[in-house]
Amino acid sequence: MLKFIGSGSAFNTKLGNNSAYYKVGNQMLLIDCGSNIFHRIKENSILKGIEHIHVLVTHTHADHVGSLADLIFYSYYCHGEFAIPKVTVYYVDDVKINELLAINGIIPDIHCLTKKLHADTQYTLNFCKVLFEKSSHVEEIPSYSIEINIDNKHIYYTGDTNSLKSSLVNPESSKLYDYVYVDTCKADYDGNVHLSLRKLSELVRHELRSKFWCMHLDEGFERQEAEMFGFNVVTNEF
Ligand SMILES: [Zn+2]
Repeated sequence: MLKFIGSGSAFNTKLGNNSAYYKVGNQMLLIDCGSNIFHRIKENSILKGIEHIHVLVTHTHADHVGSLADLIFYSYYCHGEFAIPKVTVYYVDDVKINELLAINGIIPDIHCLTKKLHADTQYTLNFCKVLFEKSSHVEEIPSYSIEINIDNKHIYYTGDTNSLKSSLVNPESSKLYDYVYVDTCKADYDGNVHLSLRKLSELVRHELRSKFWCMHLDEGFERQEAEMFGFNVVTNEF
């Protein structure tokens, strides 16, 4: 369903920072734009045929927004018609994206468009519906998961998190979801701000696992191990 430009954790340079995309005609949905994502977008010509990019920001860790400014400036100056904003940034009101853009020299409404959203409220974008929900990650900054309705599919995309809401793992309520993308790592220790594969296995019953997709993988993560447990693992796809 979603495609991934990168599927790794902050330090997994091989898989790249976790970032998903989905194209509808000449529009593209992009979830996060971490430090090495602009490079991957450009090197793999992902913007070919795209006239507008809708970026959903889960939170402001660098591996999720580190090259957002590069994408905005590139699309403004070098992609398609010169000096027209081609990125809209969607963020929840307590995510300090405006400060981030400001220190990068980006002027909203000139270089890009921004849309401040409220959590737990569904919004209709051009070609999909989104709803942001707070996730459990770090104390310093807020982090959000996103429910997305697109092409008649109901997707849940956890931002960085170390837990899953109960409706995702309840056999009845989980029927709502076609795809559940989950921040999953091999690292497993007290205080982990991500969700370990061990914990995911404890939370999700075997019969529900086929709709769960592991992403945001750390370097110790073993695809085969997750697949043996019955989970899917995303791959990068351009
Ligand atoms: Zn994070």
